[in-house]
Amino acid sequence: MPPQLNLILIGPPGAGKGTQADRLREDFRLPFISTGEMLRTNVKQGTELGKAAKAHMDAGNLVPDDLIVAMAAERLDQDDTQDGFILDGFPRTTAQAEALEEQLDNEGRRITAAVLLAVPDAEIIKRIAGRRVCVKAGHNYHVDYDPPKNPGVCDQDGSRLIQRDDDMPEVVEKRLAVYHEQTAPLVGFYDERGLLRRVDGTRTPAEVHDHIRALIATLLLEESL
Ligand code: AMP
Repeated sequence: MPPQLNLILIGPPGAGKGTQADRLREDFRLPFISTGEMLRTNVKQGTELGKAAKAHMDAGNLVPDDLIVAMAAERLDQDDTQDGFILDGFPRTTAQAEALEEQLDNEGRRITAAVLLAVPDAEIIKRIAGRRVCVKAGHNYHVDYDPPKNPGVCDQDGSRLIQRDDDMPEVVEKRLAVYHEQTAPLVGFYDERGLLRRVDGTRTPAEVHDHIRALIATLLLEESL
């Protein structure tokens, strides 16, 4: 049986997690789980969870741990994750990381690695100002660094490109502060467990992709020993 690849992508908003996850999903055919994307779908559909989450999201705050942990646990119980998965945007607090560890432990699974996409705040602010996402599936673009072929239109599904509500400048600073306060401690959490892998997220998307692919190739070799 091939080794399981259970990956976490960590990094500030706008570090390139979504862009890399799109590429990795194609490389490794693993289910890609973005809690931000799941929440945005819930908001669009007007579910109870969406209603509970929206105000937190619009303010740039984290959605409470109990809601997120339950949503992620349910997703990770689905069959398609049993051969591996890529998590983007979860866990985002130590409590979430502990809950994830406990769930996987109980099921005889474990995290293979937590990949940190390191990008300084000043660069993040520039990137997010130009970020556009498609309304249909959340495919990511940047007006300068990664423009679509036709302005305002998604290359992959032809849907309209918009700026996310929480990418507005006043919300971005708040999201960065929340990242440093609540999510950055996860770097230590995974480092202590020997699972942290650092990647320079200021490189081009192609270079970052190459680096992560090389890391994964090494991990797969180590896992199969
Ligand atoms: P993202 O698309 O990952 O940037 O997530 C967008 C927003 O969804 C975040 O700013 C949070 O409000 C919320 N969110 C996504 N994932 C989590 C999580 N693991 N814990 C708490 N809130 C989350």
